[in-house]
Amino acid sequence: MTSLGDLPLRDDLRGREPYGAPQLDVPYALNTNENPYPPSDRLVKALGEAVMDVAGTLNRYPDRDAVALRADLAAFLNADTPGAGLDGRRVWAANGSNEIIQQILQAFGGTGRTALGFEPSYSMHPIITGVSGTRWLNAFRDDDFGIDPVRAVAAIEGHQPDIVFLTSPNNPTGTALPPAVIEAVLDAAPGMVVVDEAYAEFRREGTPSALTLLDGRPRLIVTRTMSKAFAMAGTRLGYLAADPAVIDALLLVRLPYHLSAVTQAVARTALAHGAELLGGVEALRRDRDAIVAWLRAEGFRVADSDANFVLFGTFPDRHAVWEALLARGVLIREVGPPEWLRVSVGTPGEMDAFRTALTEALKEGL
Ligand code: PMP
Repeated sequence: MTSLGDLPLRDDLRGREPYGAPQLDVPYALNTNENPYPPSDRLVKALGEAVMDVAGTLNRYPDRDAVALRADLAAFLNADTPGAGLDGRRVWAANGSNEIIQQILQAFGGTGRTALGFEPSYSMHPIITGVSGTRWLNAFRDDDFGIDPVRAVAAIEGHQPDIVFLTSPNNPTGTALPPAVIEAVLDAAPGMVVVDEAYAEFRREGTPSALTLLDGRPRLIVTRTMSKAFAMAGTRLGYLAADPAVIDALLLVRLPYHLSAVTQAVARTALAHGAELLGGVEALRRDRDAIVAWLRAEGFRVADSDANFVLFGTFPDRHAVWEALLARGVLIREVGPPEWLRVSVGTPGEMDAFRTALTEALKEGL
């Protein structure tokens, strides 16, 4: 049997583990921040018809620049954030926002370059950074999981990173960043600033999107995804808004025809049904606020959340709690600071199951 160690793998990949949120077949999957509401029958039919329409053309490559899809995404962002003033030339799309982040690192990172993030945050930022040959630098968040602008600016001035990652709302803490923090980082950063807004549609009232900061700032990139609020994780469609020059840079590294004709057709159909797909967001925000209130009433520490998940704790042995929930069919995520756990907001029935399982687990003295 050949093992990985026998192969001439790149030295800097030796000893690494593949990304692996467990994909288990459980009754209540509350571990990957998916939207629990599947497409309606009407939308399933429309998606099927859209795939049928492109099926007869699959002997041809897709539109390499996904022009129509990018125009649709720009229209969506303009509706989401009034005043964003975007068009298709300022929007780029790829297979999930993970691929967007990979393309950003390929274009702006690489050997001899650095990327800086504020942890705890999304674990794929340092992973994709490392795989691209870029060195990862960690600046820490505050105890309340926010980012203090004075400390952030000091870290950036000290390290002079080529790329800065800000995640807002942050995964796994749910914390949204005030625009003043993003502006302070933009003013201090010598290179690109990526604001990962995968969960933006779930934010509470009063926190504007970083899209409002794009005008006149060609080093700012705002990334979004259809995997969360849009309930299309299976489609694999992520996107960004930035200056057209940033997109010129990404065109240098993207693989030709990276977005399949099926992906483009499905994503455009989903966008055409955007109001319906995003219809679940209000309920998810309400149910998120309800689970935060319940956990606090039960005496847990809970991070304020602007996302579709909640980080709570603290547990001396979080793995035991995670296992006790799994034994009751509820899969949540062991992620973030060592004593905390993260639960995604599911349907009301799923949240009932979570509450019951956690209450029972704690009666066992965990
Ligand atoms: N950014 C953040 C902060 C995330 O939490 C995730 C998914 N967990 C992603 C990006 C990637 O999502 P996708 O590739 O499905 O767009």
